[in-house]
Amino acid sequence: MCGIIGYAGTKRVDKVLISGLKKLEYRGYDSAGLAFITNDNNLEIIKSVGKISKLEEKVNKSNIQFGNVGIGHTRWATHGIPNEINAHPHTSGKVSIVHNGIIENYTNIKEELQSKGVTFYSDTDTEVACAYINYIYETEKDKIKCIQKACKHFRGSYAFGIIFEDDKDSIFVTRRDSPLIIGISDGENFVSSDVSAFLSYTKKYILLDHNEFAKVSSNSVLIYNDNGDLLNKEINIATWSDTQYEKNGYEHFMLKEIYEEPLVLKNIFNRYLNDISYLKDVDLSIYNNIHIVACGSAMHAGLVGRYLFETYANIPVTVDVASEYRYKNQIITDQTLVIIVSQSGETADTLAALRVAKSKGATVLAIVNVLGSTITREANIVIYTYAGPEIAVATTKGYTSQVAILATLAFEISRKHLTLDEKNKIISEMNNIQNILNYVLLKIEEYKDIAKSIYKKEHLFFIGRGIDYSMCMEGSLKLKEISYMHSEAYPAGELKHGTISLIENKTPIIAIATNKNLYEKTISNIKETKARGAFVIFITNEELDTTGDFYDIKLVLPTSTDFLQSLSVVTALQLISYYTAKERKCDIDKPKNLAKSVTVE
Ligand code: GLU
Repeated sequence: MCGIIGYAGTKRVDKVLISGLKKLEYRGYDSAGLAFITNDNNLEIIKSVGKISKLEEKVNKSNIQFGNVGIGHTRWATHGIPNEINAHPHTSGKVSIVHNGIIENYTNIKEELQSKGVTFYSDTDTEVACAYINYIYETEKDKIKCIQKACKHFRGSYAFGIIFEDDKDSIFVTRRDSPLIIGISDGENFVSSDVSAFLSYTKKYILLDHNEFAKVSSNSVLIYNDNGDLLNKEINIATWSDTQYEKNGYEHFMLKEIYEEPLVLKNIFNRYLNDISYLKDVDLSIYNNIHIVACGSAMHAGLVGRYLFETYANIPVTVDVASEYRYKNQIITDQTLVIIVSQSGETADTLAALRVAKSKGATVLAIVNVLGSTITREANIVIYTYAGPEIAVATTKGYTSQVAILATLAFEISRKHLTLDEKNKIISEMNNIQNILNYVLLKIEEYKDIAKSIYKKEHLFFIGRGIDYSMCMEGSLKLKEISYMHSEAYPAGELKHGTISLIENKTPIIAIATNKNLYEKTISNIKETKARGAFVIFITNEELDTTGDFYDIKLVLPTSTDFLQSLSVVTALQLISYYTAKERKCDIDKPKNLAKSVTVE
C-alpha cells in the first residue's frame, strides 16, 4: 500500500510530483522517490528514506534542470526494509518503475532472471517486476504488448507507473487490485493512486480498470484492454473535497479500512496457508506452553488465539496485557513460546515485554503489520500481517489480520489433532474468506438499525461465552474507542455474580452466541437479562439461528468454524460501532485521547 503519482505536461515535473506525493503521504510512510526526464533529455532518479519533506529537500538541493515528465512514489515497505536501495523507482535496463502492491511469485521470477545473468540490488519484489518487464522488452518492442506479456506472468496485486528510456514523453500504467486513476487536462495528464494527488490541477479523471493498460503523454491518453483493443473510456468529473478523495470516496478511513478486510484476509490465507516457509526457523512442536502478550485490540486478537491453541492444539496459553506482563514474574522455560502482537511494531509496553521475555531465554514470535519496525528487528521470528497502512486510529483490519495469522498458526499446530474433514472444512473457509466477509458487509442496513437502537444510551454490555466472549471484548473496546459510550464485555455466565444488578429497563445487551457447545447456556444467560428488562441484540450464525422471545433485534451472520467465526462477527461489530459513533457525531477517525502507535509506557 503506497502512493503513485505520474505527470506528463508542461509544468516543472518535480513540483507536480512532490505536491502529489504530499497528498498521498497518508498511504505510506517509509521512503519516497522520483524518476523524471531532465531538460537535456536524461532519465534521473532521486530517492530518500523518511517523509516526503526529506525527498523535497534533496530535490531542492540538486542542480538538475527538471523537465516535464516523471513518476513518483511513496512506499509502505512489504519486501525489504525501508532504505534508499529498496525505495522506488527501480530501474533495470531501459525500464524504470514505481509499484503499489505485491508480486507474489517474485522469488521464482528472480531465480529465472538470475540464471540469465540479471543482477539485483534491492530486496524488493518491485525490482524483480521491473527487470522482468525489461527482459520481455528485449524481444517485444511494442511497449503496451510488452507490459501485457509481463503482467500475464505476475501473480498478486499491482499498480505500475513505468517509464521507458527510449520514450521520454510518456508514462505507461496498468493495474490489478491496487488502485490507479488517470487525471485528464489540456496539454497535461496525470496518473495517481488517488484523485487527491492531482485535484488541484484537474477535476477530470478516468478510472483504469483491472488489466487495462494506458500510455499517458502530455497530449494524449491511450487506454487498451487485455486483448490490445483501444478503449473509449468515460471521463468523470470530481465533485468531492480533497480529504474525501484521500479516503477513496469513503466518509472515514475507518469505513474504508473495514471494506479492505475481505481482500486483506484473503491475501493472508493465500500467503500463509499454502506456504509455511515463514516457520522455517522454528519447530512449533517443541513448545508446551504459550504466552501471548499485547495491548488493546491486539490483546483481544490474542484471546481468540488462546481459545484456538487450547481447544484444538491442547497447549496451555496465557494472554497478558503487555503493561502487566513486563512487570510480573514471567514463568518462562525453554519450552515457552512468547507470541507478541502489535500492529505498529513500536508499541512501547509490548516492546518492553518482548525484551523481558527474551532476557529470560524465551523464543519470541512477533505478529506485526509495519515492516522493519523495532519489534520485528528484535523478535526471533516475525510474521507480517501485510494489512497495509491503517489510518483510522481505531484498528479494524489490523485486528482481523492478527486473528487470521493466529488462526493459521493454531491450525498448523493443531493439524495432527484434527480429522481430515475438519481440516478440509477449515481450509475451504480460509479460501472463501473474501466472499464470507463481502456477505457480512452487505448487511449495512441491519448495523445501522442496531446503531439507532443504542446510540442514545450511556452504557451497555456485551455478553458471550468461550470464543464468543473474546469477540465481545473487541466489540466493546471498539464501541468505547469511537463512540465514547461506556460498555463492558462480560462472560455470559459471570454476569449473575454481581454485574446483573446494573441491568435495568431497556439496558442494551449485545449477546453473541455462535458456539454450538455453549449456545444453550448463553441463551439461558440472555433470558436472565431479558427477565430484568434488558433490550437484547442477539448475534448468532445461520446454523444456530433460532426464534424466540429472548431478543429485540437479531443479527444472523454466516456460520464458520471457530477458526474463522470471529472474523465475520467482529467485522459486524466494527460496523455497529462505526454507525453508533456516527449517530453520536463523534470524530471517528481521530477519537479523543487515542494515538495510533502508542510509543510511551
Ligand atoms: N512491494 C513493494 C515494496 O515492498 C511495494 C510496496 C508498496 O506498495 O509501497 O517495495
